This record gives sequence, C-alpha cells and structure tokens, in this order.
Amino acid sequence: MAANWKMNKKIGEAQVFLDEFIPLVWNVKDVDIVIAPPFTALYTVSNLLKITHVSLAAQNMYHAEKGAFTGEISPAMLTDVGCSHVIIGHSERRTIFGETSGMLNNKVQSARNSGLEVIFCIGETLAEREADMTFDVLSKQINDGLKGIAPEGIIVAYEPVWAIGTGKTATTGEAQEAHAFVRKTLSGLYGKVSEEIRILYGGSVTPENIDSLMACADVDGALVGGASLKADSFARIVKYNK
Ligand code: PEP
Repeated sequence: MAANWKMNKKIGEAQVFLDEFIPLVWNVKDVDIVIAPPFTALYTVSNLLKITHVSLAAQNMYHAEKGAFTGEISPAMLTDVGCSHVIIGHSERRTIFGETSGMLNNKVQSARNSGLEVIFCIGETLAEREADMTFDVLSKQINDGLKGIAPEGIIVAYEPVWAIGTGKTATTGEAQEAHAFVRKTLSGLYGKVSEEIRILYGGSVTPENIDSLMACADVDGALVGGASLKADSFARIVKYNK
C-alpha cells in the first residue's frame, strides 16, 4: 500500500502524520507500506521511519547521476536520503510536465541501476476509455516504459486518469479487467514471472472502497493520493478487510 502525498505536507505536518500513523500500523506485518512525501520532507520522514517497517519513496527523479541539471534530483541522492522506492510516470508528470515514454524508460533504468524499486504508473484518460483505446494505451505505456528493463524491483500502478482525485473510482469489474490485461501484457514481456509482479490500483481509493478493490484477483495493492493524507484513513486502507 503506497501513499502519494503529492505536493502536500510541510515537514511539521509530516511529523504529525507519522506520530499518529505509525502506532496504528505497528502490528501490520503482512502488508508492505510505502510513503512518498515531497522532496523537502524526505530527510525528516526517513529518520522517523528508520525503526519502523514502513518504506520511503520519492515521487519523481531525474535519470542522470549528477551534473548540470538545475532543479533535479538523482537516484543516488534518493538512496542517500533513505529511499527504497520511487514513483515514475505518474499521470501528473506525464500530462503537466510533459514526460514522455522515452524519458520514463530512462528514469526506470536509472532507478533500477541504483537499486530503487520502481512504482511505474500507467493509465488511460477518459477520452481514451470512451474511444475504446484503453488496452492500446496500457499496452504501449508498458512496452515503451519497461523496454529493456528486468522485472525485478518493478511494481506497476494502474491509475485510470479519470479516477485520480475525482472521487470516481473504477468499478471492481473495470479495475479487474484492466489489471488482468496489464498482467497479460507483462507476461508478454517477462513470461511467467509476471505473476509475481505487484499491480497496484490507484484512483480515488478510500477506506470505503479498498476492501472490494482488494478482492479483485489481480489487484495486489493500492497507490493512494487524497486518502493517504490523513493517518487514520491511510491506516484503514493498509488494514483492509480488518
Ligand atoms: C494518485 O495520485 O496516485 C492518486 C491515486 O490520487 P487519488 O487517490 O487522490 O485519486
């Protein structure tokens, strides 16, 4: 279960969240928990997570190791601050910041070279879904983004763009159909090992809908935006079905 805080929470707010959240999930040992704060809170959150079983992710990175790239952060900087994961290809990066499949493929390669686990996001827009292009879009995003990348350390997040931050969740039928297609596409790339790749659902996940989403055969977890900003809400998502 991964929390994507996006551009939310200053350092003090992150501390307040963790003071409440960690005790709530202290006993949860059978779910991998990841939190992706903004860059400015990584160092503080990293220190607070040190004695916990919660992992730290960044929301983005640049593919180069170092150099004249004003405003960018390298994978080595992320591992240095304690990140084990990085989110790559979030639809907000693709649409607002113009990140292309080629750029994302470079980032995934570079993150894996540095030992970071990658949460690789894919998903169709509403217009693409309505034009019956969902499977074409997903297949292209997977094949372009993961070209030449080994399957180890790859987590895929299926996030239909029309469901992100809108309060509209995919039905369990829509989520399962897309996840089964993602699994099939991954098996074309990786063969049988695709059964081991975790596929997260993202898009208006809440404490109310997590149980039914997790009941879908190919939904292995969730990438959560809005509902991860409150400790009790994200803790309930982590403790789905309990
Ligand atoms: C996200 O940004 O990854 C996301 C799924 O957001 P939300 O849960 O708010 O829809």
